[in-house]
Amino acid sequence: MMPMVELKEVTQVYVTDREATLAVDSFSMRAASGEFVSLVGPSGCGKTTILSIIAGLIRPTSGEVTVNGVSVRGPSPQVGYMLQQDYLFPWRTIWQNACIGLELTGGLTPHKRDYTLHLLEEMGLADTMKLYPHQLSGGMRQRVALVRTLATDPDILLLDEPFSALDYQTKLQLEDLIVAAMQQHRKTAILVTHDLSEAIAVGDRVIVLERNPGRFRKAFDIPQHIRDTQPLYAREQEGFNQLFRDVWKELETSEEKG
Ligand code: ADP
Ligand code: MG
Repeated sequence: MMPMVELKEVTQVYVTDREATLAVDSFSMRAASGEFVSLVGPSGCGKTTILSIIAGLIRPTSGEVTVNGVSVRGPSPQVGYMLQQDYLFPWRTIWQNACIGLELTGGLTPHKRDYTLHLLEEMGLADTMKLYPHQLSGGMRQRVALVRTLATDPDILLLDEPFSALDYQTKLQLEDLIVAAMQQHRKTAILVTHDLSEAIAVGDRVIVLERNPGRFRKAFDIPQHIRDTQPLYAREQEGFNQLFRDVWKELETSEEKG
């Protein structure tokens, strides 16, 4: 089957007037339709760069990226991008924030409005629609950001450390919610995180990157029984701790190298 996302030997060199930085070095990966892939690696190893390349925000120095078999040439509504900060507009209500992507793409049809409303209800935000972002907790705001990203109905979601600014409990709840939403709406997801247990708990597969420059190091397939368990309980499953240690060891050796 054709992969939903494919990167072939992608290299990214950032050039400034002072220096050239090799951020990503000949990185290849695939994500199948409906797959949830976690990317882990030390800070600065090129994770955000890889997501920005998939999103079409950066043209890689070399290599090829395809989404659904088509070469990525720029941003596309097929790909949604959710960041660590929620970037909600403080002067717009929650409802207006949730709809902004649709407004910008001219797609605010009655059908899409209903869908967005349904998403807000699904995320437990029905009562917040008339409120403003400052009236919401961090976890609620990230849920609004998720609704906003899902509202345009992308096939692929890129998630750049979306939970890292949240307290532990909120983060666990949001992990569950995101995984459930991805399954329910049959999305392909690529999650960047530096939290190993999160990567294992939410992912179908975990890809470990080398430190600086980002290179593929190793991929771990998550056993079915862990995948079938909600992230909140995945951490208690048999084999989870061993897997955690195995991935940890890969990361550790990758750090020592740098
Ligand atoms: P990560 O998300 O894994 O922390 P990044 O993709 O943000 O890593 O960055 C990878 C490397 O590229 C780092 O060394 C970073 O300093 C460098 N870098 C990132 N963005 C730019 C940019 N716009 N210009 C120059 N260097 C950059
Ligand atoms: Mg980053």
